[in-house]
Amino acid sequence: MTTAKEEIVFQQLSNAVGSDYISNDPAILVCYSRDQSPKSPKNPTYVVLPGSREEVQEVVKIANEQKIPIIPRSTGVNVAGLCIPTVDGILVDLKRMDQIIEIDKKNMSAIIEPGVLMAQLQVEAYKRGLKIVVPSAPGSVSVISNYVAVRGTSIASVKFGTGDNHIIGLEWVLPDGSLLDLGSCSYQDGWQNGCCGHSPGPDILGLFLEASGGLGICTKAKVKLYPKPEVRRSSIIVYNEHEKVLDAMVRIQKSGIASSGYVHFPATYTAHFFTLNNETAKNIINLLPPYSILAFFEGTKRQIEYEEKVLNKIIEETNGSILNLSEIVSMFGGAEAGLDPKPVEQGIVHHADFMTITVRIMRPKGAFGITVFVHNIEDSFKLYEKFEEICKRLGYEDLTTYYIQPIDDYHFAFIEMDIIYDPGQKDELELAEKVLSEINKVFIVEEFGLNYYESMCGGPGKLIGPKLGKYYDLLKKFKNLLDPNEIMNPGVYLPK
Ligand SMILES: Cc1cc2nc3c(=O)[nH]c(=O)nc-3n(C[C@H](O)[C@H](O)[C@H](O)COP(=O)(O)OP(=O)(O)OC[C@H]3O[C@@H](n4cnc5c(N)ncnc54)[C@H](O)[C@@H]3O)c2cc1C
Repeated sequence: MTTAKEEIVFQQLSNAVGSDYISNDPAILVCYSRDQSPKSPKNPTYVVLPGSREEVQEVVKIANEQKIPIIPRSTGVNVAGLCIPTVDGILVDLKRMDQIIEIDKKNMSAIIEPGVLMAQLQVEAYKRGLKIVVPSAPGSVSVISNYVAVRGTSIASVKFGTGDNHIIGLEWVLPDGSLLDLGSCSYQDGWQNGCCGHSPGPDILGLFLEASGGLGICTKAKVKLYPKPEVRRSSIIVYNEHEKVLDAMVRIQKSGIASSGYVHFPATYTAHFFTLNNETAKNIINLLPPYSILAFFEGTKRQIEYEEKVLNKIIEETNGSILNLSEIVSMFGGAEAGLDPKPVEQGIVHHADFMTITVRIMRPKGAFGITVFVHNIEDSFKLYEKFEEICKRLGYEDLTTYYIQPIDDYHFAFIEMDIIYDPGQKDELELAEKVLSEINKVFIVEEFGLNYYESMCGGPGKLIGPKLGKYYDLLKKFKNLLDPNEIMNPGVYLPK
């Protein structure tokens, strides 16, 4: 049953975006009730699909006048419940705004709308001998929301840093419907000539990163492109002891070689990367050495040759070995047994641009839940032990994995703890949510690293907020200054 106010708002929104691009039909709304996280679903009251910045501004103005919450959504592929409505409100689906407005080959940049997908922009960059840095997430995620909303991490994060490093400037619709340009695009001619990501003087762009739709809607971005490298290679190096694998990773770090490296354990992901079905993966997980480094190189031919020589020396000194995929494939019955070396031998390299294998990690049960902490590489194993202890205590021992990904020239490591679950089974869904929130609670209270991925949203924010002291007070004041009616994604940016 719709109320009189809901009917008025429906009409106003319909006038703003056109009657084809609004719905309050429960059959449509239910598609917007979930994302890729195990968090409980909830339908929005309306969904609107604006086709331009002006329409976004109109929708935001209506919401502000009527004091109705707004939840922005670019592609809805986040794994943290960031666009599941916490209260009734308007879900703004930005997928129609999917234009690559400009690619500047000479200055290696692109101006894009929020509905532009990673794979879409990558194809256009490739045509010009350039590339974008993609996260290790499906190619169907929005470039803007990955860079802005979660500072995406990628297979090349050691060399290129997190997603925010690729932002030159942003166009932002504030919660009152007015416009703000940020970064290099905040000054005159910035959209044409901006190049560095900063405005002159103190830079406030950082305040809008990871705002999870809490400070308005990004309607345009200028992002960096990079030269497409001459050569790319990858190797999987395996170990039986965790001290050795971490020692090798630190040595790789200090030598300055490799564009990236992940340390994976146990062998769950490694097994799923090169198998075609769950049965085969399950059979070989325990046969593979438990610890592996997935090292990824890109650059010129000579550079890669040199880096491989250094890597081989490190492998020798740390008693590691390169996983010979052809050998493994024949050892375990070849292609007939469901083994597929191609995704690793060629796919990892391809993965760096088009994320061809990421979704394989969802294959065993259909979904995975994650939490992420930032720490140094050397001490990262103690986080794993705690993670294992919590999973066992809560009765989750089925499919868990853990990986360490050095970032930003190895200045820190992104430590991801994943549990794989079946989203169609209510008990598994509830257990996944319970395990992840317990990990966040224990890790934040006992200070095991810095919570990164969900830093301010939902549950973790309640625990992190008080630890931030004045900084948190300032964030709340900033939010209140921009959004006094608290219409933007309430309960997600900063919990009450
Ligand atoms: C299998 C899998 C693997 C993944 N691996 C990785 C990985 O390795 N690295 C990585 O970085 N990510 C990874 N992810 C996560 C995912 O890529 C990011 O969470 C995602 O890019 C953000 O989701 P989205 O782009 O669909 O944004 P959405 O889900 O649409 O939105 C995310 C948040 O941003 C807000 N928002 C969205 N658009 C706007 C806008 N235009 N203006 C203002 N606020 C906005 C929303 O309100 C919400 O709070 C993975 C996901 C999956 C499913």
